[in-house]
Amino acid sequence: MTKERVLITGAAGFLGSHLCDKFIKEGYHVIGMDNLVTGDMRNIEHLMKLEHFEFYHHDVSKYVHVPGEIKYILHFASPASPIDYLKIPIQTLKVSSLGTHNILGLARAKKARVLVASTSEVYGDPVVHPQTEDYWGNVNPVGPRGCYDEAKRFMEAITMAYHNVHNLETRIIRIFNTYGPRMRLNDGRVLPAFIGQALRGEDLTMFGDGSQTRSFCYVADLVDGIYKLLLSDYHLPVNIGNPSEITIKEFGEEILKLTGANQKLISLPLPADDPKQRKPNITKAKALLGWEPKVNRAEGLKITYEYFKSLTKEELFKTEHRQFS
Ligand code: UDP
Repeated sequence: MTKERVLITGAAGFLGSHLCDKFIKEGYHVIGMDNLVTGDMRNIEHLMKLEHFEFYHHDVSKYVHVPGEIKYILHFASPASPIDYLKIPIQTLKVSSLGTHNILGLARAKKARVLVASTSEVYGDPVVHPQTEDYWGNVNPVGPRGCYDEAKRFMEAITMAYHNVHNLETRIIRIFNTYGPRMRLNDGRVLPAFIGQALRGEDLTMFGDGSQTRSFCYVADLVDGIYKLLLSDYHLPVNIGNPSEITIKEFGEEILKLTGANQKLISLPLPADDPKQRKPNITKAKALLGWEPKVNRAEGLKITYEYFKSLTKEELFKTEHRQFS
């Protein structure tokens, strides 16, 4: 029996690799694509031997050629942590602008449905709380996060344009902070930073006074939401995230408790344009998709901690020297 084919960009990344697993499990033929700038082949090593998984080492910012039919495209290629897009702002801008343009062109040629990964960052430092999809955001285009936030806003705009002009079947997900196994230890995000520090016996680096809030969603819940949105018939943006909000200080304390570490939280300067609060309003996802998160933070953190504990000492202490070109 021929399987339906799905293309996933950013396949070797944290979210991309979990999506590959999901679509393999659902019986699709998965074509993964990644330029490995922030992705890691180890995340998809287990899939490489499968008959129904193939991998293209390619940068979607350049012309994308995939032979054969494609039913769905999920565009998840992009650096996604402040540390990465500070180091590679131009690639960050290109992947969500030029890359999205290429992906939309490919979707048109293949008559495929395309889902693009947008982000809560389109809301910037939000003055509406919790964030609803009809809030337009408060973004600084020339600040350190501008290259990511504006590229994702452009991604949404060009996706809507392809939908309106070419009748392309499009889906836009706005992803809020997500965590789980396969996050990169040194990507600068708060969860791997805190767990890594706890495991290495270092103090936990809280930025500012830790009163800023985030709402963390476990990766399996997110993947479930993405799948449901893809199969729905709704083309406007939908928030997917866990509304359980916590301050970064409380989050650090939870990690100290979970890991049993004896260290303390220390305060470092707050980075520029760090959003003060973030929490999704998921009314739309509930009503349209019948989706809501099922894994609470205590459960999700436990699984994620087990993953980080399973890393070798060498991995745990290695500082990252990625060659960004
Ligand atoms: N943060 C922190 N210590 C760290 C890394 C991050 O206190 O070592 C803070 C950061 O300033 C932000 C929050 O944790 O307020 C979430 O940061 P992350 O980079 O994970 O995601 P984002 O800011 O994009 O939501």
